[in-house]
Amino acid sequence: MSRRPSSLPRRPCVAVRIGKITVGGDTPIVVQSMTNTDTADVKATVAQVAALAQAGSELVRITVNTEDAAAAVPVIREQLAARGMSVPLIGDFHFNGHRLLSKYPACAEALDKYRINPGNVGRGKKKDEQFATIVEIACRHDKPVRIGVNWGSLDQALAARLMDDNARLPAPQSADAVMHEAMILSALESARRAEEIGLGHDRIILSVKMSGVQDLIAVYRKLAVRCDYPLHLGLTEAGMGSKGIVASTAALAVLLQEGVGDTIRISLTPEPGGDRTQEVLVAQEILQAMGLRSFTPQVTACPGCGRTSSDYFQHLAQNIQAYLRQQMPIWRERYPGVEALKVAVMGCVVNGPGESKQAHIGISLPGTGEIPVAPVYVDGEKTVTLKGDGIAAEFQQLVADYVVRHYTPHSNPPLEEMKS
Ligand code: SF4
Repeated sequence: MSRRPSSLPRRPCVAVRIGKITVGGDTPIVVQSMTNTDTADVKATVAQVAALAQAGSELVRITVNTEDAAAAVPVIREQLAARGMSVPLIGDFHFNGHRLLSKYPACAEALDKYRINPGNVGRGKKKDEQFATIVEIACRHDKPVRIGVNWGSLDQALAARLMDDNARLPAPQSADAVMHEAMILSALESARRAEEIGLGHDRIILSVKMSGVQDLIAVYRKLAVRCDYPLHLGLTEAGMGSKGIVASTAALAVLLQEGVGDTIRISLTPEPGGDRTQEVLVAQEILQAMGLRSFTPQVTACPGCGRTSSDYFQHLAQNIQAYLRQQMPIWRERYPGVEALKVAVMGCVVNGPGESKQAHIGISLPGTGEIPVAPVYVDGEKTVTLKGDGIAAEFQQLVADYVVRHYTPHSNPPLEEMKS
């Protein structure tokens, strides 16, 4: 039968409520994403937030960088609500967050969380004042705050101070170690300051994002044992395509395996005109591959080899995966637990029957020289043998029938169906 996810140790931390979502405590690791639209463009931003939420992003961050963007936030919130979408919105503030949040109280209220970068709050004396202004507004509106330190915008005054202190030591540490400490201190000192101003201990999330895999692992390991705030995990500026996916996975998998990380974001650079929701799918796939959460039924498919008679099985695997993803907005509501379904599509008799038996439902297609039939296995037992031109359609129907038979329907129809 199907393999079950293992449970891994989790670093203890406080729980932080963000709108309807809780991050930290003993809640599942939360998937989040960020838009790349101009927030002042309400139509485009609503469409992208909706697409990200529909893809499974449980929190969505939007840039709030101008007065027009701040003015647009409550309108975006309203238009999402009109679509029946309550995904929490996080405002990303740099340089002028204190001014925008002060001038646009409706924006401050419409957002569910604020992200502050201590390196970009202000310079000199103004830094403390502007940081305090944002935190006071968060307290007034009862909003949590992520203190998000970033390698590329690290507080330079703090980094210089630590470098000077280090240089005076009899045995100075490496420059990398000092920079890691600067990242951690920037986060922890900002959190302490926020609490002094009045923000609750359970209203703070920390991140210390870096662009190098080993740097990220090292810095989060150290931060994880020095506080009990929930940690937002992500490799910043991960890059494009397979490089970004692999680097993010390599870094996050190590930390998640050690129980570090309460919410994740995969910072992929999309191809021009590419689909922003890819970062959501990658985040989900990391968590699902590690057995930490289930989001979408998974298709196990062999890579194919010289025994594969054609690319038929590749198309079948691709089509079945697409079909499952397409069905999920409805199935998620109607058939709880369906996200853990495992489907196998295999290319020949060598591993086909064995892998198909490990799935809930699997098909073993004929390889070169094999009899042109495709046995189907359901819960480990061979139930039917398909042949002829209709194998793909028949197998898809068998998968649909399996879902209907094995997952208890919810009594209420999903929102999408009610609207249509
Ligand atoms: S299952 Fe068969 S076709 Fe697929 S990789 Fe293995 S030997 Fe090749």
